[in-house]
Amino acid sequence: MAVATAKRDYYEVLGVEKDATPEQIKKAYRRCAHKFHPDRNATDPGAEAKFKEAAEAYEVLSDPAKRRRYDQFGHAGLSGVGIHDYSHMGVEDIFSMFDDIFGGFGGRRRGSAGADLQTEVSVTLAEVASGTERPLQFTRRDLCEACGGSGAAAGSRRQTCSTCGGYGQVEQTGGLAGFFGRVITTCPTCRGRGSSVVTPCNGCRGTGRVMKERLITIRIPAGIHDGQAVRVRGEGEPGEDGMTRGDLHCYVRVAKHPFFERQNNDLVCRMPISFTQAALGAKFEVPTLAGKGELKIPGGTQHGHVFRLAGQGLPDLRNGRRGDELVQILVEIPRRLNKDQEALLRDFARTEDKTVLPESKGFFDRLVEYLGGGTS
Ligand SMILES: [Zn+2]
Ligand SMILES: [Zn+2]
Repeated sequence: MAVATAKRDYYEVLGVEKDATPEQIKKAYRRCAHKFHPDRNATDPGAEAKFKEAAEAYEVLSDPAKRRRYDQFGHAGLSGVGIHDYSHMGVEDIFSMFDDIFGGFGGRRRGSAGADLQTEVSVTLAEVASGTERPLQFTRRDLCEACGGSGAAAGSRRQTCSTCGGYGQVEQTGGLAGFFGRVITTCPTCRGRGSSVVTPCNGCRGTGRVMKERLITIRIPAGIHDGQAVRVRGEGEPGEDGMTRGDLHCYVRVAKHPFFERQNNDLVCRMPISFTQAALGAKFEVPTLAGKGELKIPGGTQHGHVFRLAGQGLPDLRNGRRGDELVQILVEIPRRLNKDQEALLRDFARTEDKTVLPESKGFFDRLVEYLGGGTS
């Protein structure tokens, strides 16, 4: 499973201002794509990631509707919009997606699988513990029903492309070929399909594709971690052949919990107690994912000490074994004492032989040694 990292601002990725014109954005993307094309950066292992990052930024900023949502709500505003999941795509496929920019550079394979899509869902820790299901609604470029995806109007047929003779690819000589050497590119006339539409379908203007809403239910397995993705096979865009669909990658965000912090499969809870409870021992109710549990601490409990509630953590994603809940004790010193309390504490202090407390004894021994060694 892929683990997503925090996303950079799309404008920053392309190096453009927030009010950049579509033309400036296109230019900036072209520049980034050339700069980071992995073929030209064989020695830079990060080039491919940067290349894909730029492609994603361009997909959003070049689409007025997506750009508006991104401007308003940031990355979160794009969940469910159906952005391509570039981390699972090949470089050549990405290049061919924005054919118009590169003048056909790329070389889309005929009959290749459709593009992957990505989306995001947010779940609670309790849902992580049990696993859950989510309805997921998103839009994707889908087959046009009127023409079955062929792009040809009813009663008409597609015709073998005369530019490429039906191969879908041509050898490019000018333009970017000078940049990358001899390249085979997608046929600009038929866009790689090898055939073209004579009488275009009204429903899709001959493209064979329309935007469609899709509603599915995804299963989120117990134990999943923040940033991991659930892959739903065959829920991406349809391929060139109209059949082989890409996948949908649903990234899971785990919402912050008021008490628990996750450490692998353990849950850490920091519990403040008073110094008298720590010194004398006490019994507490502690929050657990299931509700509440009981914790008994012995007298003389130290600040920072961790108590373990076995099996009260999260299940492991692979083997289902549960982690523990770790309750860390934070001893709080009162900021204010009333008269009686102060008098009691002063009495207590008089009974205290500081040199017998093990921690402080060690400290004072070391202090004496340090000062003695430094001055003599
Ligand atoms: Zn062609
Ligand atoms: Zn159609």
